[in-house]
Amino acid sequence: MSMSSTGLRFVCLGVGDAFSARWYSSCLAIESGGTWLLLDCPHPIRKILREAGEACGERLDIDIVSAVLLTHMHGDHVSGLEGFGFYSYFALNRPAVVLTHDLVRETLFTHYFAIAEESLRYTSESAPPTITAKLTDLFDVRTLSDTTTNGFGPFRIECRRTIHQVPTFAMKIRAGDRCLGVSADTAYDPGLIAWLSEADLIIHETNLGPHTPYEKLAALPEALRRKMRLTHYTDDFDRARSVIEPLEPGRTYVV
Ligand SMILES: [Zn+2]
Repeated sequence: MSMSSTGLRFVCLGVGDAFSARWYSSCLAIESGGTWLLLDCPHPIRKILREAGEACGERLDIDIVSAVLLTHMHGDHVSGLEGFGFYSYFALNRPAVVLTHDLVRETLFTHYFAIAEESLRYTSESAPPTITAKLTDLFDVRTLSDTTTNGFGPFRIECRRTIHQVPTFAMKIRAGDRCLGVSADTAYDPGLIAWLSEADLIIHETNLGPHTPYEKLAALPEALRRKMRLTHYTDDFDRARSVIEPLEPGRTYVV
């Protein structure tokens, strides 16, 4: 499927957790009307995009992505962002647009971007500085409010905080009359599932420890399970026996 749609669709780029030896980290490329968003940005993002694109017959690369929607600061969701920003600036001559909540934005600047900024300031005797870029040339970070709907291109985005170790935001992404719900990383949270339930398609995480147990999702009403897809599952998650369809990397899904 190479033509753009006026509806809402996404390519699944990865379904793995932070420990996965089988899959890239959970990540989506979402499209409407030719505008692409990345939902989270793990490393190595260009390879992840290319391989998923090859699998689904689409050319996917950083140059077609208009913005990264960032759910939270855990490494398996943000580790590709530094490279994304440098590539955007040096190869594409534009900043990487990042859309995220203020609580995520704060950590992004105090922790993660400090390294990128240090790299921009780097000088040495043998190699005089040739980089004149500032951090804001690499990254254009825009705030997502969790009290109103946020517009970006053809998309209308709502976010809601989840139950996780660091500030994390679930998303409802609308284009036209379609709505995609994404749980992001979260413990089992019936309030969050109720918030997501109006979506036409819901992507929910499942995993061990602080995450949502599969059994909790499997016990949800059938109508809800039918429009739910699983991601962020462990390598030994039994996909064949799951009563909720697991996402598959390299597949396109129409919402
Ligand atoms: Zn996390």
